[in-house]
Amino acid sequence: MDSLQLFLDQFKARGEAETVWLKEIFGFISEHLCPELSEPAPLAADDVVTGVCAGQLSVCLVKKLQENVAVTHVLPVSYRLVSVSALLSLQHLACVSNLSWTTNQHRAWEKEVELPGHQALPRVNLLLIGCLKEGRAGEWRLTDASGSVRCECLSLSPLWLNRPVFLPHWNYIPHNALGQNHEVRGYVELIGSPALLCPGPEQGFAASPGEGAGLSRAVGVREAAGLLYNSPCLSPRTRGQRISVFGLVASVCPQLVVAGTTFFCFWLTDESHTVRVLVKDINRQWWTQCVYVGLSVCVTELRVCVLRGWRGNDILCVTEQSELHTNYTHTDTLLDTPPPHLMSHVDSEDCEEVEPETDKAGLRMKKSRVISYQGTVTQVVSDGAGLYVIDRKVGLCLAYQPTLRRKLRAGDSVELHHVHFLYRPCPDFPPSMLCTCLRSSLRVIAFSGVGGAPPPDSGWLPRLLLEKNTGVSEYLWTCHLSSKLAHSLVPSLLKQRSVAVLSWKLMESVWRRGRGGRRDIYSEMLDEPHTCPLSKYTTGPKVHQYLSISALIGSLYSECWSSVSLSSLLPPGGSSLSRSQLNTALAWSCRTLTSDLQDGPQTGDAPGRRPLLLVGMLELPTQTSEPTLQLRDATGAVACVVTETSPDGGQRAAFNSAWIGCLVCVEQFTMVTERFLQSDFPSYQHLDQDKYITNKHCRVYLQFSLDSLHILSPSVAMATHLGQRGEELGSDVTDRRQTLEAEETERATTASRKRRREASSVTVTTNPVGGGFRPCVSLVIRVEQKEGVAQKNTAAALKVEEAGLTRCFSVKAVVVGPVVSWGRDPKNGPVTDKEMETEQEDKVVLVLSGGSARWFPLLQPGCFYRLTAPNTQDPRVLIGRGVSGQRGVELHTDPTLQVRSDWRLHTLTRPPLQALSPTVLSVSEVLDSRSEMVCFQAQVCDRISLSDRTSSPGAGVCAGVRLTVWDQSGRTLQVYLDFSHTPYPPGLLPGNTLLLSAFQRRVSRSGGVYCRSLPVSSITVTSLGDASSARPPSAPMMHLGVWAVRDQSGIVGQVRGHVVCFLFLQLEWSCSLCGSPYLQTCSSSQCLSTSSVFQSKAKLVMDDGTGEAHVWFSGALVPPLLGLADSQWEGLQRALRVRGHIRVTPRGRSLVCDSDDPLLHFLLCVCSSDVVCRQLSLTCRKTNQQRSEEMKRFSRGERDFMTRVTPPLQLTCLHLEDV
Ligand SMILES: [Zn+2]
Ligand SMILES: [Zn+2]
Repeated sequence: MDSLQLFLDQFKARGEAETVWLKEIFGFISEHLCPELSEPAPLAADDVVTGVCAGQLSVCLVKKLQENVAVTHVLPVSYRLVSVSALLSLQHLACVSNLSWTTNQHRAWEKEVELPGHQALPRVNLLLIGCLKEGRAGEWRLTDASGSVRCECLSLSPLWLNRPVFLPHWNYIPHNALGQNHEVRGYVELIGSPALLCPGPEQGFAASPGEGAGLSRAVGVREAAGLLYNSPCLSPRTRGQRISVFGLVASVCPQLVVAGTTFFCFWLTDESHTVRVLVKDINRQWWTQCVYVGLSVCVTELRVCVLRGWRGNDILCVTEQSELHTNYTHTDTLLDTPPPHLMSHVDSEDCEEVEPETDKAGLRMKKSRVISYQGTVTQVVSDGAGLYVIDRKVGLCLAYQPTLRRKLRAGDSVELHHVHFLYRPCPDFPPSMLCTCLRSSLRVIAFSGVGGAPPPDSGWLPRLLLEKNTGVSEYLWTCHLSSKLAHSLVPSLLKQRSVAVLSWKLMESVWRRGRGGRRDIYSEMLDEPHTCPLSKYTTGPKVHQYLSISALIGSLYSECWSSVSLSSLLPPGGSSLSRSQLNTALAWSCRTLTSDLQDGPQTGDAPGRRPLLLVGMLELPTQTSEPTLQLRDATGAVACVVTETSPDGGQRAAFNSAWIGCLVCVEQFTMVTERFLQSDFPSYQHLDQDKYITNKHCRVYLQFSLDSLHILSPSVAMATHLGQRGEELGSDVTDRRQTLEAEETERATTASRKRRREASSVTVTTNPVGGGFRPCVSLVIRVEQKEGVAQKNTAAALKVEEAGLTRCFSVKAVVVGPVVSWGRDPKNGPVTDKEMETEQEDKVVLVLSGGSARWFPLLQPGCFYRLTAPNTQDPRVLIGRGVSGQRGVELHTDPTLQVRSDWRLHTLTRPPLQALSPTVLSVSEVLDSRSEMVCFQAQVCDRISLSDRTSSPGAGVCAGVRLTVWDQSGRTLQVYLDFSHTPYPPGLLPGNTLLLSAFQRRVSRSGGVYCRSLPVSSITVTSLGDASSARPPSAPMMHLGVWAVRDQSGIVGQVRGHVVCFLFLQLEWSCSLCGSPYLQTCSSSQCLSTSSVFQSKAKLVMDDGTGEAHVWFSGALVPPLLGLADSQWEGLQRALRVRGHIRVTPRGRSLVCDSDDPLLHFLLCVCSSDVVCRQLSLTCRKTNQQRSEEMKRFSRGERDFMTRVTPPLQLTCLHLEDV
């Protein structure tokens, strides 16, 4: 009888289906398992032997199957055996197989394992059998005749090796499910123990020679340790000696590959001692999956040896004869060491261990704590970076260990021993972080029941970590940045693979970190006490936070109005403003935040405020955006008002076109939110009623200096520019070294070289790549004057914008040399002699409209540019209209050149060209000037909107702006800007310095000088200031006697003197709408308004010893002048409600008051009291209109005298301080 029939007879099949099924089982085993078992034997294996083998195995398998199925005595015909190769090639989805589950058990399991966003693995009715064999580098593989598949196990017994097994419960994870590369095939996760298919495994194990001897001579850890450590100079005899040691596994270090050698070590312990066991033998690497912390083992035939590279004590090495016995119980000694304490939650409070060290950047160094922890992976943050979340709140970082062979999945339960606990190493991660080092043991104790493929990500960051070895806080920050940049830069600006390198570079420059020291892997694994890169970490609130452009803009917009109350926008004494004053004061306001300030925009639930960081590419504006440079990433773009340092060291508007196309990191910047409010509030009391707001909007932009940027990837032009500068600075060093002043220069050179080096390693995808023949013609020009951008109806505009209007501006420039033709775009390369060959300098007017108007932010007077027209060799295209091209033609007007949108302008910085800067005046010079058109530079100190109520709302909330500007002398000038037909330039903020070009100087009827914008005027922000410090650079001290005779208007000065007497004091309730006296209602018969404001005015005589002045006070300055507290002032307002107003005219101190009016009496007393007539320090402005000299008649006795009297100096008080 053949073995198949014997087999079928043993299981009485009920029905055809079972017979067929049983035959299939037999056939499968004969085909796939038996050849594997007889493999060592000659290939010409006996059919009979195979048949016997198949018969025995089939019987064994079916018995095991019957044992495992839920319903007894039924064959699981719905299950079929699958060969390893079929599993690998046909099963494309992750799945689970569990023979013993009933449907209900399966459903219950599904419920239990499901995680948010992750489905339970689908169940398949597949059976796996095969031999468990040792694979490469410690892998275990399930092998049959068709192939082999990697097995991951929770705990393996050495007894299972090379045995035919049946797997009753397993998961299969195909390679594509986890986005791994194609070399790594799928793998099987063994859940529970495999069922052995052959009888009598134990005796086979015990029978092997030598082992019994090894086991019987086994010693405890204490004895082994004594052998190792008690004799410091080990005798050669001890060193060669073999011992067998039993103990508890205390620690299993991760498997490492160093210089081609794969090894791992584990620690054995008893109650008091530990020994380290090194497993270097390639045939024992499979032990990694058999030993885990807490297991009692016996290891035989260990050799005492010295580990080269480790300066510590000797170590026990596994030999070729060594055996591992797990779950070992020694007959003599009871291994009752308590299992290591496992934490399942971490308490943040007791873990903070602060060291009093603080580094330069304000970061503190902390010590981590070593703990053991057990939990479930709930989130895979980044598989490639080795970052996970356990139990929803504890972070896990595995990056300091080699990559795990099996990636962790959400749902895996893990046990961690000797893991570092860190508290708040990085604010972008959970506060509690567990980080593993080379000494840590990580073991999966339950495989996840869910699939779910985390997005594929590269392991670039751990590779960089291995290479550069930075601290864990820095690494975590880099990982977070990298994940953010992947969203905001890829794919439009950057390739995915560049993100990791870019993030690392950014971290090094922001954290100012270089390469760390080398990791000493042996001492990290074996030294006691333990030290490793995770022992210490930095922490601090000042860690930069990266924001994408859209996130930044979004938060600024959302906070625009919520961050402010309207009453806070009013000047001091805002409650006394009339309707028009009130609404004008509210019409424009601005909020500026610096990137490093604590009050940055609130994003998420991050504790505290962190300095911000932006990354983006610098661009020219598009047609629809503001005429400023832009910073763009894949999420959005933001307008930027930028300045840079000019070659002479001063701040000026951005002029270097090489910045266009550079990918940069902006670390120091100011976020500006300008608020525009159209309102009609009758008075201060109505500010809480939104119905008076007719329109409100805001705009957001950034201000920064280009000098503070990190270039992450340079444009071709920037690379050229930096190259030229580097060369120049390099040659500078050799010259200057002789004068021993090299230090400064050297620093600049290294910075420049560093920039170039930094700039080279990341490539931006949008950079044009040079090469090939690209004909073009070019012309070198020097810009003399730039007009402002305006919406104009230009005939040349090919693409018609809204209503035929297109953005347009023109530039007056000097043509430095002839048109030169090139075979390849010279960009911003050095100026050649040929380009400078010219006898006389012609002028040209460049008209830039439509697409070419984008060059506006970079064209600055005094700078040299190379204008190139691509795809042509015809020099005529760059010759202005009106020039016929013939020689000797005289020109009477400057020719005009229409700049086409595909032409380029490159700023030329090399060789240094002699620039003739236009005459720029100061405020004082404008005030004293006689010319009608002026170009001047000044700092803004105040700005108000001029509402134009006649214009349509579409023209914007404010059609005009009045800027008050000043210079260092403290003299101020008012500048009126009309924006009804021009775009509204950003950056007109208090604190900023502006270059105002082609403005009209005018004199008012009262004799004051002011300036007005004309259509040709342009405004450029040349230097960025702090709005909060936009106060006069402390007004100069003035003597009244000197001030009275000096004929200068607009001067603000400080006066220190004594109040001589009050000339008058007027307090009144007046209508907020029309200003008429107010008593219950407005007294004007046309108005009859019911809203009123309290207004106060005072005039007094001040004497400082050099002269006298009449000083006016109003509004909020009056109560402190009178020395009245807020409550007194309010009482006074109430008391005046009934009568409406009061005017007090005390004539000197000697006045005797006999009035019956108690209020008048009170005020008279106040005005003449010593409290009021005191020493004061005032900041005053001289009123424009001073009275001219007049004749006065005096009587002395009987005689009359006529005398010429100089009228007193008239001053308006701006600020008051008691001396
Ligand atoms: Zn460590
Ligand atoms: Zn009125």
